[in-house]
Amino acid sequence: MKRTRIRDIMAGDAIGQECTVQGWVRTRRDSKGVSFLELNDGSTIKNLQVVIDEEYHGGAAPEQQLANGCSVVISGRLVSSQGKEQAVELKARSIEILGEAPAEEYPLQKKRHSFEYLREIAHLRPRTNTFGSVARVRSEMSFAIHRFFHERGFIYVHTPIITGSDCEGAGDMFTVTTLPLENVPKNGGEIDYSGDFFGKKASLTVSGQLEGETYACALTDIYTFGPTFRAENSNTSRHLAEFWMIEPEMAFCDITRNMDVAEEFLKYIFTYLLDHCGDDMDFFDSRINRGVKENLANIVQSSFERITYTHAVELLSKTQAKFEYPVQWGLDLQSEHERYITETVYGKPVIITDYPKEIKAFYMKLNDDDRTVRAMDILVPRLGEIIGGSERESDLGRLKQRIIDLGLNPDDYWWYLDLRRFGSVPHSGFGLGFERLIQFVTGMQNIRDVIPFPRCVKTLDF
Ligand code: ATP
Ligand code: MN
Repeated sequence: MKRTRIRDIMAGDAIGQECTVQGWVRTRRDSKGVSFLELNDGSTIKNLQVVIDEEYHGGAAPEQQLANGCSVVISGRLVSSQGKEQAVELKARSIEILGEAPAEEYPLQKKRHSFEYLREIAHLRPRTNTFGSVARVRSEMSFAIHRFFHERGFIYVHTPIITGSDCEGAGDMFTVTTLPLENVPKNGGEIDYSGDFFGKKASLTVSGQLEGETYACALTDIYTFGPTFRAENSNTSRHLAEFWMIEPEMAFCDITRNMDVAEEFLKYIFTYLLDHCGDDMDFFDSRINRGVKENLANIVQSSFERITYTHAVELLSKTQAKFEYPVQWGLDLQSEHERYITETVYGKPVIITDYPKEIKAFYMKLNDDDRTVRAMDILVPRLGEIIGGSERESDLGRLKQRIIDLGLNPDDYWWYLDLRRFGSVPHSGFGLGFERLIQFVTGMQNIRDVIPFPRCVKTLDF
């Protein structure tokens, strides 16, 4: 018999129908000759209640092995449930155990486990409510992101994971090498990469932006959505060593339209989530972080505040609030500052623009004041920065000068400079960290719990 997904049973009016379900037993409860199973197949957070009574096996009690964690195929009839929790339940006629899960060894017991413990069993944590919901939300959000760009004619470009240039300096990079680590060839104290796989130093990418620009400067509207790597030595709840980034890049686009697109984009994917992940979002709202749903709904209705960095520094300077890090024009904003602005001052997302050139990347377009660049960071309550973007410098001379001023070698950027040499256009883009997004929309505290297999400094359990 064909498998019916539990999600479809819950969504439709299937009472009276015969069906076969397959899944894992979440819990089992026995009372007065009747057993109840809570069955989950991952298609929804909801469990299907299976009733095993006298109709099953002519009244024989179900096997002991039918315990938490075992996998089963169950056929029977869907009936309306007497319980308050559910409208429908399955009256079992036949049960086949596919795989047992010995109770004394199964690491997931009924009680709630801590997220720390569950990180140690990352191979089993998708069988819990929280991680099942995170996985479904990640999947739906990925789809919404692709749909947003696809509807607007953006082309999805696959930028490389292995790169030959430490272009952006966005963070420390991981080296990719086949050199013998026990005996690294050196040349006058420096590592000699000439015998390495690529014949030069190679790294894992920290961003697909620079390569993305090459495609935007030909196809106009593009985006990337792929893994990025940063050897972040920071043990925070917001940093991973491997994370996914969404980076749209748009030609013939200035910073104002860049902000408009970013704002519309966030609202679109939040709306999609509220419309399509109701059950999972109800779970996050009631069990993980009260108010996340309302928060998202409010953001969708709001219009993002747009202020300059200079104004942000003024706001931070005149408040009585105490900060750990100093506030001064020219210094980067720390997460505590960002949160003060978005949570306390405005109570909604804030876009900060025109940062001092010294604290931003070399490729950002210089303003006429010669001190600030056309950067834009989007800050959201509870998290701080969620998006970083800018209008890119499109003037060859100015870009080259910025590279030189920063002590970099223009020759390393020859292809990037070519984009300004031949048919240069104003263009802009931004980067959204996918896991920061998932953290934000689910209310999950730690970024390690919104990616299936987290990679962080000193942690690589799987
Ligand atoms: P932060 O100051 O929080 O470290 P950043 O300035 O290094 O961020 P960008 O280089 O602008 O960030 O990267 C773009 C986006 O990627 C950020 O807005 C954020 O959402 C995400 N991001 C950056 N670093 C990480 C990381 N280590 N783990 C997960 N997401 C990250
Ligand atoms: Mn960083």
